[in-house]
Amino acid sequence: MMTMHGDESARNRDRAPRLLLLGGTSEARALSERLAFEAGLEAIVSLAGRTRAPLVSPLPTRVGGFGGVEGLRRYLIENRIDRVIDATHPFAERISANAREACAALGLPLAVMAREPWRRQEGDRWIEVVNTAGAVAALGERPRRVFLTIGRVSVPAFRAAPQHHYLVRSIEPPEPEELPPSCELILARGPFSCDDETRLMREKRIDILVTKNSGGPLTYAKIEAARNLAIETIVVAPPSVQTERRLENLDAALDFARAKRTP
Ligand code: NAP
Repeated sequence: MMTMHGDESARNRDRAPRLLLLGGTSEARALSERLAFEAGLEAIVSLAGRTRAPLVSPLPTRVGGFGGVEGLRRYLIENRIDRVIDATHPFAERISANAREACAALGLPLAVMAREPWRRQEGDRWIEVVNTAGAVAALGERPRRVFLTIGRVSVPAFRAAPQHHYLVRSIEPPEPEELPPSCELILARGPFSCDDETRLMREKRIDILVTKNSGGPLTYAKIEAARNLAIETIVVAPPSVQTERRLENLDAALDFARAKRTP
């Protein structure tokens, strides 16, 4: 913990509270658009830098890793951050764990914008697995036509199952050497409509879909389309969210952001 002397402590008390928003998701983006209109609050968005052309934020944005828990702790001190909202993707476990540890060490309030995972509906033909390796194994030996929508970073794992043909969809292209040998690449960013997803799966004669259970409405249409077409779906289960404080919606996040700073 830092100690402060009289003048510095008074200056610190009078300044606008500072919020760090850990982002990289549609929720973080929607929240940043609301926070941009908040007077008396300084908010900074942090992105990992995975996407070369991220959507432009209305808030000041820093890009790149902090350097582990220690780097994040230092950043929070040096930038006089008062509270943190973790609005990262449910599968971004490392940064969420780092935020928990760094905030706990400094006594800073932390809240998580957690999405509800998708739930299996009647008609869904889900095969639930715990990780990417499980998804590769669940494809089986028989060659299949796979719609792979699991995020660029997880694509190389599917090189271990080269007997399948893959329709790979990601926001940014994987490196050519990361792709399975038989594949077609589509670059696209959600949201997607159920009609478009259905058309795509039909046109490409997909017989199995692979996805993370990312939750939220933005990319749910592929699940509905697979259900309508009775296509099997391999679903990677989300990690459990470990947090005291969950923000259920944007209003709750704004209330948390606006809360008075503890001197
Ligand atoms: P991760 O495994 O939890 O994080 C790996 C490292 O990347 C972290 O240790 C941290 O580096 C850095 N990092 C991650 N998010 C950051 C952020 N918002 N600001 C600054 N540094 C960050 O995360 P990931 O799965 O690689 O995801 C990276 C980013 O992409 C996340 O921000 C997430 O919201 C977004 N995203 C992820 C997925 C997914 O499926 N995983 C999907 C959509 C969007 P240091 O340790 O050096 O600080």
